[in-house]
Amino acid sequence: MDPAWLLLLPVAALSGWFAARRRYPQSDGQSSSPTTPDAYFRSLNFLLNEQHDKALDVLVEALEEHDESLEIQLALGSLFRRRGEIERATQLHQGLIARPGLTGDKKGQVLFELANDYFKAGLLDRAENLLVESGSFQQLREPALRLLVQVYESEKEWESAIGAATRLNVLTGEKLDIVIAHYHCELAERYLSVGDNRSSEKQVSQALALDPGCARALILQGRLEASQGMHREAVDSWTRLGEDHPEFLFEVVHLVKGSANALDDESLFWRFLDQAVAASGDERLHLMLIDHLASEKSVGEAEEALLLWVSETASLVGVHRLLQLRKEGPPQALKLTDVRLLQQAIQKILTDRPGYECRFCGFLGKTLHWQCPGCKHWNSTRPRFASVPLDDKEIL
Ligand SMILES: [Zn+2]
Repeated sequence: MDPAWLLLLPVAALSGWFAARRRYPQSDGQSSSPTTPDAYFRSLNFLLNEQHDKALDVLVEALEEHDESLEIQLALGSLFRRRGEIERATQLHQGLIARPGLTGDKKGQVLFELANDYFKAGLLDRAENLLVESGSFQQLREPALRLLVQVYESEKEWESAIGAATRLNVLTGEKLDIVIAHYHCELAERYLSVGDNRSSEKQVSQALALDPGCARALILQGRLEASQGMHREAVDSWTRLGEDHPEFLFEVVHLVKGSANALDDESLFWRFLDQAVAASGDERLHLMLIDHLASEKSVGEAEEALLLWVSETASLVGVHRLLQLRKEGPPQALKLTDVRLLQQAIQKILTDRPGYECRFCGFLGKTLHWQCPGCKHWNSTRPRFASVPLDDKEIL
């Protein structure tokens, strides 16, 4: 549990008690509500002994008897919700709503809290209604809209999510365009799945207007173009991914292959694959290039490309594929060069890995610390592997 909350409650209890004393002073100086300071000291004692649950129980009991202050009740309701006691929080907030004389901003505040309870309980319709209502109060507009966006996301009500997020955008000046573009993509995918390409295109355009580099929208745009036989345009759209999001090029490589096959233009695929490998450095694309060379050209050519790649990058994935190739080849195909490449790849991994690890907190360090700098435990760091003397000259 958040310790800040634990501190808040005794303070709230004590301040409520002082407020009550000021409001109802007694001539003999005795308190009109003796339970609260008593609860304060008892709960503080539990807190100091780290018995958080007992501390909370004492305070909750005291606060329920002295419910004049709405703020304290709201804090209590919030605490219940944080502890996962949603039903208790809901009951408390419903009780507050039923109070006579609750008006204006205070009513809005309770409605908002109740909406949070419903949201946590998965009662999305009810949460939505209350958020619309509480959002009409000036100071709750922003938090209500923020939660409303989450409600619509959970309901997959993408049109409504676009509306709420756009209003939030205007209200706070936040840059929510990237998120709103995803809502448009959700709609575009929905239309595409039922064959309504026209509506899907419209959503993709709106997504790209908000976020011109939106990877998801570019992938969808290509899919829409390909579905209408516009394969070159489709490949152009997918190629544009390389500008802002080369990390997603692998996601479309099979789509590009499909379009190249449809056009009976193998070179289109080669060009895309070459550019994609250069732009992303993605090892999965590199392997695909090697495999494609082996199947479409020759194993020798594939092997040459593989050796070049591995010697330049010491890629473990590449070495793995090389050993696979050797295993499938004639006996004694393993060469001295291969052993060197393997040694290089392993050396890269060993030098990248730090030498010591704390058994308590997982702190990683290159040197031995007798006291862990992370968790301050003594004697908790151990070497991660037996140290291997590494010497470049020995290998090269
Ligand atoms: Zn540690």
